[in-house]
Amino acid sequence: MRPARALIDLDALRHNYLIARQRHGGRVFAVVKANAYGHGAVACAQALSWDTDAYAVAFLEEAIALRDSGIKAPILLLEGVFDPAELLETARYGFWPVIHHPAQVEMIMKTALPASLRVWLKINSGMNRAGLPPADVRRTWRRLIASHKVEECGFISHFARADEPDCDATGHQIRVFDEATRGLPGARSLANSAAILGWPDAHRDWSRPGIMLYGADPMPEENNGLHPVMTLESQIIAVRNLAAGEPVGYGARFIAPRPIRIGLVAIGYADGYPRSAPEGVPVAVDNKFTSLIGRVSMDMLTVDLTDLPSTGIGSVVELWGKQVSVNQVAQAAGTISYELLCNVKRVSFVWNKSS
Ligand SMILES: *Cc1c(COP(=O)(O)O)cnc(C)c1O
Repeated sequence: MRPARALIDLDALRHNYLIARQRHGGRVFAVVKANAYGHGAVACAQALSWDTDAYAVAFLEEAIALRDSGIKAPILLLEGVFDPAELLETARYGFWPVIHHPAQVEMIMKTALPASLRVWLKINSGMNRAGLPPADVRRTWRRLIASHKVEECGFISHFARADEPDCDATGHQIRVFDEATRGLPGARSLANSAAILGWPDAHRDWSRPGIMLYGADPMPEENNGLHPVMTLESQIIAVRNLAAGEPVGYGARFIAPRPIRIGLVAIGYADGYPRSAPEGVPVAVDNKFTSLIGRVSMDMLTVDLTDLPSTGIGSVVELWGKQVSVNQVAQAAGTISYELLCNVKRVSFVWNKSS
């Protein structure tokens, strides 16, 4: 079997979850959208079911998959519903939709529902992506309650720049949110991972940790004690010596500056390792650091083994995990940990309880 694997450490997931809960207090929506950021939504949701109050996913199908797997806790739909049929299903399942746009409010008004809803009104506090204008919140809340289709209404907003500790945009968003919801009854939820860790002023009734559950710190310069959950690894499947001046891989991006020994690794961009990774991105081969050389191919990539004479075919290569931080790879590749983790596919997944 091809040795490319994603090892998912569910103990690390629980460890990170407890940090999120302790740092924020109150109740927790464990965010498991996008297949739990590539870690396996059902396995991760089950691993957190001993404690979490609820889950958050992006849309209805993601919620149904969790419910069908035996997850009993409430599930929040962060993007809400897309049409009246979805609203009916949402009411039937008892999922909690976010209402972020007037069209979704009208849908509730016009659709006969089999059960009353518990909704979360999303307020645009400054990100200008999803959310009702702050000035519309009171009127919308009154309409929803008066419709008798909504039995409970919470309030939610999302930060654009919570991972920038010195940026006053987050403080401004908090003030806009508080002003828009002042005096209204109902639970509040503001904090994603970065705000859980960096913005105590944003802590309300419910937190919404995502990336921190998976151990990729949104503010890596701090030491928040998170443990990486995913180890993406494969093995060396061929070894070759190159003379000075010989090229490696597509486009001959790398040319050996001196005689070198290279290892071919069975993993590539079709598995989710970024093709944009430049020369020198760290990898660990048999627990020793070395680096990527040459362009990443669809199914393979190459690493420098010159200074690791004890390595060879069968040596284990960690692309990211406990040794190589996914944040470091993401930064080198011009992206963020979220995208790398979400994109892992085609490899075999192993969910283990202890590392
Ligand atoms: C994805 C998401 C989160 C989780 O964000 P992280 O940065 O991964 O913690 C929280 N709230 C909303 C609305 C989201 O879409």
